[in-house]
Amino acid sequence: MNTFRNGKFNLSGESLTDNFDLLVKALDASISGIIITDNSQPDNPIVYCNKAFEKISGYQRSEIIGHNCRFLQKDDRAQVARQKLSDCIKNGYECRVEIRNYRKSGDLFWNELYMSPVKDKSGHITHFIGVQNDITERKKAEQDLRQQKDLMERKIEERTAELRDSEAFLSSIIQTVRESLLVLDPQFNVLSANDHFLKTFKVTAEETVDKHLYELGNHQWDIPPLKELLVKILPTNNPVVDFEVEHDFPHIGRKLMLLNAYRVELEGQYKDQILLAIEDITDRREIERRKDDFLSIASHELKTPLTTIKGYIQALQRMVNAEAGERFRSTLDKVAVYVDRLNNLIAELLDVSRIQSGNIELHKTSFNFDAMMSETIDAMQTSTPSHHFILEGRTGSYIDGDESHLIQVVNNLLSNAVKYSPESKEIFIHLSRVSEYVKVSVTDHGLGISVEDQKKVFERFFRVGDVQERFPGMGIGLYICDQIIKNHRGTLWVDSNKGEGSTFSFTLPIGEGQANGN
Ligand code: ADP
Repeated sequence: MNTFRNGKFNLSGESLTDNFDLLVKALDASISGIIITDNSQPDNPIVYCNKAFEKISGYQRSEIIGHNCRFLQKDDRAQVARQKLSDCIKNGYECRVEIRNYRKSGDLFWNELYMSPVKDKSGHITHFIGVQNDITERKKAEQDLRQQKDLMERKIEERTAELRDSEAFLSSIIQTVRESLLVLDPQFNVLSANDHFLKTFKVTAEETVDKHLYELGNHQWDIPPLKELLVKILPTNNPVVDFEVEHDFPHIGRKLMLLNAYRVELEGQYKDQILLAIEDITDRREIERRKDDFLSIASHELKTPLTTIKGYIQALQRMVNAEAGERFRSTLDKVAVYVDRLNNLIAELLDVSRIQSGNIELHKTSFNFDAMMSETIDAMQTSTPSHHFILEGRTGSYIDGDESHLIQVVNNLLSNAVKYSPESKEIFIHLSRVSEYVKVSVTDHGLGISVEDQKKVFERFFRVGDVQERFPGMGIGLYICDQIIKNHRGTLWVDSNKGEGSTFSFTLPIGEGQANGN
């Protein structure tokens, strides 16, 4: 029988060899833990362990010898690897397992264990040799890797779900907006059309999708100026903004459509696509027209009795004699002032309706621009003692234009400068000649206008939100000014900073051969 005593292997019936010590030294030098169990003894005890095993397990040899290997698993018994190990021991097979073991300190270590049986000549298993390696680090790295992989997979899943959601979200927006939308490829083939488009034009998806934009319906979008704008969208990223198409559409008749087209900004599968939004503005335009008609009729109707009232007041003023009381006289003057004001408001409304219907008449003459400016400013200064008007520069030019309309523009800019700068008393008017234009700038240091509102102040009936209650007005003065300047082939614009004041400027072309150069 084979025995193992004092760390030395005795092979019974055979003589000890000199090589034996060498063999034990070799085992002790191994970095793998090595144990030998004696299967012929009850509970298969450990009869040999090398130094590496002591190091891995943290136990001393004296605490190891005589124990069954299971002490290394402490209470962690329900391991699959343990079952496999005991099956192999029972059946005398070789095996390799990765098993959770515990050091003397209680710390877990992963043990990669090679177990092989030693058989005697008759085939009985006498011993088991176990070679073990501490693979805790490798296990940890594997586990980290697995966790990393799981995390990545989860992230990919989440991202995919998000993308799916946002795609679904996007298409649900496209489907639900109350505007007709077409998505086009770079060749203007329709990739998709939303429900609103199909309903508005009373067409089916089959009649629309995969068709060329210009072939839809009765070629209603095949309009050269529109085509010109559309081809520029992808290369230049310039959108088509508010392009009006009035057309006899199949199924729905004559309609006015407003087109806006943009390059789709999303990358990925939406890249290089065009979103065409089509809005039916037939009814809106009709309402606007009726409003303008009403305005025109109402102001005409008001004008007639007012002219009569004005006439009677003038007659009364002439009839007032020296005996009339001061109170009577001043009341009559006040009535005259308010009637004048009402008259001006109605005149402005009439201007708007004339502009709307294109009936504004220009009575052009050639006049000295600087003289017109200084007379207008003087008159304004007389009636506005609250502010001080400072005129700088000159144009030295004659202008071919409707003098009374241009006076109206200057008056409007001056009175706005006064009205919207109640705290600041100085208004600067600067005249200059720029190339073949005269330029006028009216600067105040009053409320100023936000950048966002600057675009809108020239629209009719627009008034900046926070001035509405504080200052009287109808929001049409600048609209009229803009139209008058446009009618003279000039431009009107504003530079302003909210809270710091505004400069309204306009240019007018100097009539050919009219510039006197002085
Ligand atoms: P109104 O003065 O009758 O409201 P306008 O068409 O002349 O109408 O002006 C439109 C709006 O532009 C005004 O309501 C005001 O909000 C703004 N605005 C015009 N001029 C000035 C200015 N000089 N400073 C600040 N805001 C101004």
